[in-house]
Amino acid sequence: MNGEFLRDIQSIAETMDGYQKAARKTAIYPTPVVYPALGLAGETGEVCEKIKKRIRDADGDFNDPEFKKNIQKELGDVLWYIANLSADLDIKLSTIAETNLVKLYDRADRGKIGGSGNNR
Ligand SMILES: [Mg+2]
Repeated sequence: MNGEFLRDIQSIAETMDGYQKAARKTAIYPTPVVYPALGLAGETGEVCEKIKKRIRDADGDFNDPEFKKNIQKELGDVLWYIANLSADLDIKLSTIAETNLVKLYDRADRGKIGGSGNNR
């Protein structure tokens, strides 16, 4: 990993952990882990549903401002559930992002971005 990558990671970490902390203040639910996991699945479904309907009803035009506004809200819901699910598991949002980026940059360095499998 180069220096630029490490600087990028540090700057986004503060922002992501700040978001997670703020989202945590609005997390009121009965069953930690389970509730946000189910909510994540539901909100991901809402994102997919809106995209499906855009294909069905608008020839797959994803540039409509109203569509973008609505998909932005649903992606925000997805983010909220990811932030709180990971908080329930005592995992910082920045740790998730960093682990993912390290994996992807490593694959890119090795020319393995394409293809499939979790452990390329
Ligand atoms: Mg929603």
